[in-house]
Amino acid sequence: MQEVIVIGGGVIGLTSAWWLLEAGYGVTLLEREADVGSGASYRNGGQLSYRYVSPLADQGVPLKALEWMIQGDGPLRFKPEADLRQWCWLAKFLANCNAADNRKTTSKLLELGELSRRAMGELELAVPLDQFAWRNAGKLVVYRSKKAFDAAVAKTSGAGEVLSAAECVAREPALSAALPVLAGGIFNEGEAVADCHAFCEVLAARLKEHPRFRGVMHGEARRIAVNNGRVTGLDTTAGMLWADNYVLAAGIQSRDLAATAEIALPLYPLKGYSLTVPIRATDVAPEISVTDFERKVLYARIGDSLRVAAMVDMVGEDASLDPKRVAALTRQVRETMPNAADYDRISPWAGLRPATPDSAPIIGATKYPNLWLNVGQGPLGFTFACGSAKLLAGAIKGDAPPFPLDGLTLR
Ligand SMILES: Cc1cc2nc3c(=O)[nH]c(=O)nc-3n(C[C@H](O)[C@H](O)[C@H](O)COP(=O)(O)OP(=O)(O)OC[C@H]3O[C@@H](n4cnc5c(N)ncnc54)[C@H](O)[C@@H]3O)c2cc1C
Repeated sequence: MQEVIVIGGGVIGLTSAWWLLEAGYGVTLLEREADVGSGASYRNGGQLSYRYVSPLADQGVPLKALEWMIQGDGPLRFKPEADLRQWCWLAKFLANCNAADNRKTTSKLLELGELSRRAMGELELAVPLDQFAWRNAGKLVVYRSKKAFDAAVAKTSGAGEVLSAAECVAREPALSAALPVLAGGIFNEGEAVADCHAFCEVLAARLKEHPRFRGVMHGEARRIAVNNGRVTGLDTTAGMLWADNYVLAAGIQSRDLAATAEIALPLYPLKGYSLTVPIRATDVAPEISVTDFERKVLYARIGDSLRVAAMVDMVGEDASLDPKRVAALTRQVRETMPNAADYDRISPWAGLRPATPDSAPIIGATKYPNLWLNVGQGPLGFTFACGSAKLLAGAIKGDAPPFPLDGLTLR
């Protein structure tokens, strides 16, 4: 039997491990932290957004980005770094900011989204949905300006239900305070929300029960050793490790690890924030998952808490909490949904989205026949985890993919 080492115990590494076991491999998971799911997968927005995939790079985004940077509490912050990787990523991102590339990436991400939805359905047999607060919440994207609303309606081409501002509030009463500033919204059923960290924990428990799972090895991979065009081992803080195949699924840290094998991954850490706020019996929390389009703020009820996620900060590999950003987000949330939760008990968090310039993940082969990638899911890693893992396991096994993978491989 072929053995695989998966590097990284976030939602991508864990799902990769599961689908590799399903494909008949023996699997060891390497994770540097004491717990799985403690990186970007810890307190993300919880959206399983299979149809609203909207790549960040789009026509008009560069101008919009300048506007956002000027606003003190806007959704984007940029701190120039003395790191060429930031500038290369930015140049590639700008090159992708056009309608044609956006359409191409969107259609690929929709295929990946659909595969992910089906794969999550298969996984449900082993990981029951109620064990990670999964809910078929539907998604309502609301627009503040008529211009943005009209443009979105023109793009929907019949998919999604177009609602006036009053209809948005009737559908989701938690939005009632925002009624005067809303232009309208688009509702899609079939989108879900769930607790990504709980999903990681439950999946890790299932992995441990699997007869071919060799366990979670706690250690940090430091270098991918290569010789004669193959990976010959993994140098880790727990010693040297060997397997037939190696999967890199270490979130943003995949960038540095790949570099040790002379592979340049076009990844950049897009820092984001989330707030987790307890919901009291008297609160009017959103039942539907809401996206505030212009402010780029996501709202989801996850179990007994309101989860709010927002912001894209290009400030390097720094996941520390900036009190000013937390205060700005808290202000916006209180203003939009003042009665949704107990804002005196906010628990803030920040994480690094491992993002590619075109928002498409990188799945599958590298220049080494026994080194594989599952990286770059960026703002939608929870959404795409199951589909990406399925594609990865198929690629290693040599199965024909369910759709052409152009745009989802190392370019
Ligand atoms: C604020 C915010 C909101 C988000 N909201 C959503 C959302 O609503 N829906 C959605 O689909 N996605 C969302 N995302 C994106 C999603 O969280 C990420 O895409 C996803 O978590 C990435 O998973 P990962 O496994 O690649 O990375 P991680 O979760 O970071 O996992 C990588 C793991 O690898 C380990 N590791 C790193 N280096 C090494 C090493 N050298 N050796 C061993 N182990 C190592 C790390 O400790 C970590 O556990 C959001 C992200 C953020 C930051």
